[in-house]
Amino acid sequence: MYIVQIASECAPVIKAGGLGDVVYGLSRELGIRGHGVEIILPKYDCMRYDHIWGLHDAYQNLVVPWYGAAITCSVHCGWVHGLQCFFIDPHSNDLFFNRGYYYGGQDDQMRFAFFSKAALEFLLQTGKRPDIIHCHDWQTGLIPVMLYEMYRYYGMENQRVCYTIHNFKHQGIAGVDVLWATGLNREPYYFAQDRLGDNFNPFALNFMKGGIVYSNFINTVSPHHAWEARYSDVGCGLSHTLDVHNHKFGGILNGIDCEVWNPEVDRYIPYHFNKDDLTGKAKNKKALRERLMLGHGDKPLICYIGRLDDQKGVHLVHHAIYYALSRNAQFVLLGSPTEPAINSWFWHEKMHLNNNPDCHLELGFNEELSHLIYAGADAIVVPSNYEPCGLTQMIGLKYGTVPIVRGVGGLLNTVFDRDYDTEKLPEERNGYVFYQTDASALESAMDRAIGLWYEYPQEFQELVVQGMEYDYSWNHPGQKYLGIYDYIRHK
Ligand code: ADP
Repeated sequence: MYIVQIASECAPVIKAGGLGDVVYGLSRELGIRGHGVEIILPKYDCMRYDHIWGLHDAYQNLVVPWYGAAITCSVHCGWVHGLQCFFIDPHSNDLFFNRGYYYGGQDDQMRFAFFSKAALEFLLQTGKRPDIIHCHDWQTGLIPVMLYEMYRYYGMENQRVCYTIHNFKHQGIAGVDVLWATGLNREPYYFAQDRLGDNFNPFALNFMKGGIVYSNFINTVSPHHAWEARYSDVGCGLSHTLDVHNHKFGGILNGIDCEVWNPEVDRYIPYHFNKDDLTGKAKNKKALRERLMLGHGDKPLICYIGRLDDQKGVHLVHHAIYYALSRNAQFVLLGSPTEPAINSWFWHEKMHLNNNPDCHLELGFNEELSHLIYAGADAIVVPSNYEPCGLTQMIGLKYGTVPIVRGVGGLLNTVFDRDYDTEKLPEERNGYVFYQTDASALESAMDRAIGLWYEYPQEFQELVVQGMEYDYSWNHPGQKYLGIYDYIRHK
């Protein structure tokens, strides 16, 4: 099969969160299985060029119609760890992707509407006719819309679209301008409730809704989150739309890339280890403590790795730090704040805890350090308010770091409580789960984990090994996506 992924991120070259990991990991898995995979991305000025091999001009003078005129783009081609990627570089005074950030502009909707249009023009003008176009999140929600309403009349009538929603919170809400810019025009037609008209704001278009309505198949990134999106408020206003299109909607758990996330070969950690020999893990804990100037006492080390924002349950993350310290455990946080208020809050905490030998807060994005933390910590907390899939708990499991998670979304599909799970046998359980959003719920789960570490170290080790035995690689999800591709191709 010939598959083209179109996305705003692809790790490690462009990564703001899990989306980047998924685009990379899934594409690699599809490639390993013998399918042709290409990835189309924006050419941001701030991406990690050191991860691209052989970057060269692949196509010049890609003329993209825009607002009745046109913007000319160059398309560069390069290999990101063996994956062929095309980077779209518009020559326009708008500097869509030359701003030193991936997201966060006032005109993000326009930036990614343009990217979507340019990606389709690139396929059209170069004669590329993939069997499957796989789009991700709101940034590419207009692709199936434009494909169905415009590009199929230009010769792209056989392309099928799979649309993956990684986060319902950001939907791409825009005004009428976007219709004139992209050439879709026909205002009343697209504002209709059964097309792109936002379910709550009659003056807004919703890119993600467009993606849902026009794609051949839509999925979110775990079975439980697919259920939540339809039946709870985490669908962020799209529940009804998902209900209407239920026949083509499902949930597929993400995988983790086992070349990148594998304690047996990880090039960012000083000592390798596996479930049969955990001595390397203990050495990594020592190395982590040395790197962060933490004390070396006989204490469990708990970590948090992730964005610091409302979705991730920042208040509980904050509480976890102090609760761990009060229970004589160490805490390491690696977090990227997403809002100024959270940034100042955690900088304040960082200053306050600066001299504490049992705690280190590292604010910002640091891929290399994250590997050492996964490898050196005993447990990882993931107290999310909602979590479409969550990768950190799966990476934690792979590195023998026991997850302590809130039972929502993909966390519920991947972590099984050591004491209370009703689905798995005791020897198949792998972590701790709590359900409520208050501090005492988190405390009770942390308490059980820390208690086991101190009182029953042998049993804690068994829990670590049971977690490492789980296979959350791309093997199963890869197969599931191929099943969907096949289904929509032949439908
Ligand atoms: P998200 O909601 O951000 O997509 P996921 O759990 O799905 O959350 O994926 C998070 C990914 O980003 C993981 O690979 C995690 O290791 C990485 N990550 C998140 N924050 C940071 C950070 N501050 N530094 C390094 N890596 C990070």
